[in-house]
Amino acid sequence: MQRESTITDTRATLTDTRRISRDVSIITLRCPEVAEAAEPGNFVNVRVSDTTQPLLRRPFSIHDAEGDEIRLMVKEIGKGTEIFCGCRPGTELSILGPLGNRFSVEADDYDTALLVSGGIGTAPMKLLERRLRAKGKTIVNLIGGRTKTDLLQDGLSDCRLATDDGSEGLHATVLALLAQELPALCAAGRPRVFACGPTPMLKAVAAFSREQKIPSEVSLESVMGCGFGICYGCSVEVAAPEGGTKTVLLCREGPVIDGGRMV
Ligand SMILES: Cc1cc2nc3c(=O)[nH]c(=O)nc-3n(C[C@H](O)[C@H](O)[C@H](O)COP(=O)(O)OP(=O)(O)OC[C@H]3O[C@@H](n4cnc5c(N)ncnc54)[C@H](O)[C@@H]3O)c2cc1C
Repeated sequence: MQRESTITDTRATLTDTRRISRDVSIITLRCPEVAEAAEPGNFVNVRVSDTTQPLLRRPFSIHDAEGDEIRLMVKEIGKGTEIFCGCRPGTELSILGPLGNRFSVEADDYDTALLVSGGIGTAPMKLLERRLRAKGKTIVNLIGGRTKTDLLQDGLSDCRLATDDGSEGLHATVLALLAQELPALCAAGRPRVFACGPTPMLKAVAAFSREQKIPSEVSLESVMGCGFGICYGCSVEVAAPEGGTKTVLLCREGPVIDGGRMV
């Protein structure tokens, strides 16, 4: 979570769109400067259309980065994501990034990385897994969704699954899955939790990790405008080191925060 990323405002060429579920696509963009600088947890702010509809850029976590390309995992929830997922190979887009901070891959207090994600929260996990593997860490993915089509594994390793409706994996939340798997995982090595997903899930995972005395960090989401601290659209309340709470801008001090700072 330490280093701030370098910001590049650049043109990217969309080279591929692959639909992996009813409403989620993996979009590949050729943008060498961003791909080279990308760190797990960073995001890009994409201008999905040259018109004023939508007016603002849309933020997306960097799902993976390899060579001169990055991949994004995009869920269609409104106009901007619908336009983006409909873009054809060859489309040129303006993107800003990499933005935000990153997960603490380099921390030396763990051997086993528990990647806990819910729904589209799986988006930052592929690049995180790639960098953790390079550090020689053991990696376990704990993935939750409402139903089996919400489980977005996209080539992640050692995936343990949970669904709210029991259609695949454990019939429970991803938190219950984490609680179930934790004793065996703790016996195998010191764990650290890296989580991304809906805010209620992140609050529960952070609280559980605190109780279990396991270090955790969570990647938060909020509605966001500029992506670099001018518009103040992404302010969130977090615990202040001196006690009480304080307001931070997620685009600058996040999206990754220490689980202990969740309020
Ligand atoms: C740091 C960050 C990283 C993100 N990474 C990803 C990612 O990797 N993949 C991905 O699919 N999405 C990601 N998102 C969310 C994504 O930016 C929004 O889904 C997108 O901006 C919606 O644009 P739209 O025009 O399609 O929807 P809109 O038409 O703007 O909104 C449609 C509906 O969704 C709601 N909405 C919009 N944005 C959000 C949001 N951030 N959280 C909850 N509800 C929202 C609106 O209030 C509205 O009800 C991320 C957001 C942030 C802040």
